[in-house]
Amino acid sequence: MKHSIATRYGILLAAMTALVGCCVLLVNIFYLERYAHAAIEEGQHHLTDAVEKQLIRDAQLVAESLANNLDTAVYGSDFSSIQEQLEALSRNTNVAYTYIYNTSGTVIHDGSAELHNYGRHISELLPPGLPVTLEPDTRKIGQYIHIAQPIHSGETTFAVLRIAITYTEAEEDIREMSADLALQGKELRNSIVITSLSIIILLLAAAMALVFFLSQHLLAPIRQLVDHCRRYAAGESQIHFKLERNDEFGLLGDALEEMKDSINRSRSQVERLAYHDALTQLPNRRMFNEELNKMLSWADRHNNQVAVLFIDLDHFKQVNDVAGHEVGDKLLIQAGNRLTNLLVTEAENIDFPVPESLLLARLGGDEFVMMLPNCKDRQQISRIATRIADVLDHSFTIEDRRYTVSASVGITLFPEHGRSVTELLKQADIAMYAAKHSGRKRHRFFEPQMNNEVISKMLIQQGVRDAMHKGELKLAYQPIVDMENGDIVGAEALIRWEHPERGPIAPDTFIPLIEKTDQIMPLTLWTLEHACLDLIQQIMPRRDRFKLSVNISGAVLREPAIQDAIHNIIQRHRLPKHTLHLELTETSMMENIQSCADTLRDWKKVGADIWIDDFGTGYSSLSYLHSLPIDGLKIDRSFIAEMNRGQGDQVIETIITLANSMGLKTVSEGIETESQQHFVHSRGGHYAQGYLYAKPAPLKQLLKLLDKETLYEPL
Ligand code: C2E
Ligand code: CA
Ligand code: CA
Repeated sequence: MKHSIATRYGILLAAMTALVGCCVLLVNIFYLERYAHAAIEEGQHHLTDAVEKQLIRDAQLVAESLANNLDTAVYGSDFSSIQEQLEALSRNTNVAYTYIYNTSGTVIHDGSAELHNYGRHISELLPPGLPVTLEPDTRKIGQYIHIAQPIHSGETTFAVLRIAITYTEAEEDIREMSADLALQGKELRNSIVITSLSIIILLLAAAMALVFFLSQHLLAPIRQLVDHCRRYAAGESQIHFKLERNDEFGLLGDALEEMKDSINRSRSQVERLAYHDALTQLPNRRMFNEELNKMLSWADRHNNQVAVLFIDLDHFKQVNDVAGHEVGDKLLIQAGNRLTNLLVTEAENIDFPVPESLLLARLGGDEFVMMLPNCKDRQQISRIATRIADVLDHSFTIEDRRYTVSASVGITLFPEHGRSVTELLKQADIAMYAAKHSGRKRHRFFEPQMNNEVISKMLIQQGVRDAMHKGELKLAYQPIVDMENGDIVGAEALIRWEHPERGPIAPDTFIPLIEKTDQIMPLTLWTLEHACLDLIQQIMPRRDRFKLSVNISGAVLREPAIQDAIHNIIQRHRLPKHTLHLELTETSMMENIQSCADTLRDWKKVGADIWIDDFGTGYSSLSYLHSLPIDGLKIDRSFIAEMNRGQGDQVIETIITLANSMGLKTVSEGIETESQQHFVHSRGGHYAQGYLYAKPAPLKQLLKLLDKETLYEPL
């Protein structure tokens, strides 16, 4: 059990008072006892002394007056008068003996009628120790006072009166008086003890009263502060620690109040940090989730529809990569501001039940999310989504440079598409994903079938990183043959993904998906690196002038890292010139021909050859061909396929003629039949690739083919 300070000190104080009181009492009683004893003894002594002295004086007076009265009777030997006087004395006083003797000590009267002792010498009669004297003499022996009193006539002593008086009665009186005295002393002591005890009890009561006072008045503010502290710790916010006092308690209250303020400040700072995005100052995912949750229960009760809009910036990654993260951050802040302004304007049209700041949040990266409660129909939401895409479509000016991004918006509706925050956000994300795939700057409402498509796309995008590390990716090689003699002059490396659950995934399916993520760079480097290793370690020992074709995705063309990687690989493996052939599609080169041409020239400088892949399917204008440093064209297999139906012939002829006129080589892709081979060859095509010669197959297969030297007998 906890004792309060007041109780503890109260008990201590009371115990101390009791102890001190008891000690004082004991000491008092001890000294009182001794004092009373001494006082009574002294009293008795003084009393006895005084009574004795008085008795002696009385006895002397009696003896003196008797001696004075006796002088005539003694002088005249009037024995009867003497006897009469002595008898009178014996009657009144306790007289032991009375003698009168003459100067020679002979007894002349002993107080009796018969005078038994007449004529005897006084020394025989007196108790031992008493002198036979003619002078006055008083002595106390035992309980008797022995007095000798001379009887004289004029100046001459002629006889001596000797009497002995006893004071037994007086002693009795003295004893009684002493007993009285002792009794009084005892009473006095008792009354002192009682008084002392009363004082101790009073002191104890005073101590208890002090304790009570302390606890009620002095410690009450501490209790009050303790109580406030507890309530504050329990989360009550309206607590005031200030006490209207000028003493130390007041100071303590002030200090606690200051502490509370500082805790409140840091608490709100922490809350702000926990619920807001540090970059844009917009609410973060956590706050959005909580607010959406509240909104959903509100909408549920009011039978209301809530839309969740998932906004993702398109091309933001490029801004980040090209201009740096600082510019990217500034763009995000501006995008956040534009969306906030949009909401403020829209708030005038829509009856929002919550402050608009809670309706927009940044989830992270270039993802924003908005909730629109109280919305009536899809048209209204569509209109807002379009406005979102519009406001973000205008270029952003950062540090005097302009950057363009756009936005894809995915929309999900409560309660139609889902009833929980997680569900709604997930579906909005999926719808955004679908919007992005149907072209940028679009918005899409969630549709249940999106789930499967998008999920499998997402799985591919997220899975490729693991696939590289787990060895699920392999390279297949498809030979490229010289149409003149059927020799294998090279091979194209084609990637294969053996998914442990989904089986083989075709590159046509996953490459376009990966191109939308930052995994395309590591994937390109993986292919380059592995193909070059196979070339150096396995192929070159068999064919030192082999041409290895590797596909380079347009998505990495502008990455500075790819330039370094290609330099690096060629130099590290000491690849001879024209060994590494890089295949790029027309479309990938079209976006910025000038910078693309610079890049390609750079690659050519270190010894790579550049080929245009799928030629003829992209831009119709051929004028760009002159500005690019290319070595050859790969005629798309769709023309070869159409040739059988009689439509591709012309195109193939034109392409080959164009290539020849520009000094470029051609590879005809997708040769499946001898007639296709014949046609292409007869029109001047240089190289061919297709199932007719070999399907893409593992390296081992290619090596076997290389050992056979030729794949077909030329015509
Ligand atoms: P592509 O670069 O045009 O590659 C040629 C494609 O045509 C290959 O398909 C090949 O198997 C196929 N092919 C070859 N001869 C014939 C034939 O006679 N008839 C038919 N019908 N098809 C034939 P694959 O391997 O499925 O590759 C598809 C596309 O995937 C490639 O087209 C290429 O764009 C891309 N790809 C493959 N590997 C890579 C890679 O490592 N990196 C990049 N960026 N893209 C790759
Ligand atoms: Ca290719
Ligand atoms: Ca191709």
